[in-house]
Amino acid sequence: MPSRLGGSEILITEAELRAKIRALMDSGILPRDLPPMKRTGPGEGIPGVQMLIGEQPEQLCTVCEERGPQIAYIYGGELFIVRLHTDCDELWQQERGVRARRSTSDQP
Ligand SMILES: [Zn+2]
Repeated sequence: MPSRLGGSEILITEAELRAKIRALMDSGILPRDLPPMKRTGPGEGIPGVQMLIGEQPEQLCTVCEERGPQIAYIYGGELFIVRLHTDCDELWQQERGVRARRSTSDQP
């Protein structure tokens, strides 16, 4: 299944996206460090990050402000929600310096 939105080209360059990501991190809108990704269950005190996968056509990407982000991070007890396209998420991970580390939470 293609991940691109039909017909809409992304005109912003990668360099511009990276600059924007850094600005968003400076202003605290994007966290530099997410809380640890972990499964939470009843009785666990501190919720970790929930990662939701799936296109959200009504929402805007936090980074590029285009519609239809495919990833949402929810943390801080749902006080903070960051929505990203997969490409924007990848750039954000690179800017945070964690790109090489893949989350293992979805591994069998
Ligand atoms: Zn985006």
